[in-house]
Amino acid sequence: KSLNVGFIGLGAMGYPMASNLVTKLPQGSKLYVFDVSKLATETFTKSHPTSSESCDSPRTVAEHANIIFTMVPEGSHVRSVYLDQPNGLLSHHLQSRLLIDCSTIDCETSSSVHDEVKRHSPSASFYDAPVSGGTLGAEKATLTFMLGCSETDETFPTLHGLLSLMGKTIVACGGPGFGLTAKLCNNYCSALISLATAEAMNIGMRSGMDPRLLARVFASSTAQSTICDKWNPVPGVCPDAPSSHGYQGGFKIQLMKKDFGLAVEAGKKAGAKMLLADAGLKGYTEASEDPRCRDLDSRVMFRYLGGDEQ
Ligand code: NAD
Repeated sequence: KSLNVGFIGLGAMGYPMASNLVTKLPQGSKLYVFDVSKLATETFTKSHPTSSESCDSPRTVAEHANIIFTMVPEGSHVRSVYLDQPNGLLSHHLQSRLLIDCSTIDCETSSSVHDEVKRHSPSASFYDAPVSGGTLGAEKATLTFMLGCSETDETFPTLHGLLSLMGKTIVACGGPGFGLTAKLCNNYCSALISLATAEAMNIGMRSGMDPRLLARVFASSTAQSTICDKWNPVPGVCPDAPSSHGYQGGFKIQLMKKDFGLAVEAGKKAGAKMLLADAGLKGYTEASEDPRCRDLDSRVMFRYLGGDEQ
């Protein structure tokens, strides 16, 4: 049966996710879109003239849609969409609405928005559902969704059906907020694997070794990782990786720095001992402010280490 769905935030991730959604929703469905960038909403609705409609505020989205996705950069933007503006989602009744936030933000903001939604509209439900897979995964609908609910949640089948239109793997992470916990732990780990791979490759190269041979050794030894095999930080090792194309495309260093910082905060609050947190955060912060690295793929850490100066 046809659905009225809302999508807020049509950026690098949101735009292709919303495009998959609008083409795969049941016939007769409509996607109501909003972004602070008018250009983004206009481009989207021009591409899908009969199945989408542009809205002038989150409130207008809430007036039309029963299911609402958000995909915005940070916690402050999620709060703005929901609460911190006169035309936020919560300025309208959200009775029985299904609200799904796919942004990568801190667990505290997500939990406070969850509580505000429940206080305002007890019959509405709010879920954290951050993603992994990057812009390519968003375009190809192969994203992994980390969903803040349990598999026994009565809404899980509905959520699974909807998220399957944009992704391949949907993991119910256990309860509210655990989708974000999983996402931040994943990015903490992958940021450090990238950095460790860049450092190790740099050691080998400075000792005179051919980086392609070194990567071949890693690939069949204990340093093996997806980063090493597919996203190697050293230019020329993986022909399709951003590093071999001037670090263009991929996952921006500023986003990795943001996620790493959120993970370190979460770790501190949880009382986790982290030996690598300070060093990692210093590296990612400095690199994301360095004009040679800013706006480039996060594997540009190899350049930050001086790896390409040999
Ligand atoms: P982006 O900056 O490309 O897009 C964000 C969009 O949100 C923009 O179009 C912006 O205009 C819009 N926006 C900002 N504030 C808004 C508001 N108050 N109301 C409505 N729209 C607003 O960012 P992105 O790369 O699409 O990332 C979105 C989220 O997904 C982030 O939390 C990011 O960490 C996460 N993420 C990104 C990637 C990636 O590869 N880019 C991968 C996984 C997760």
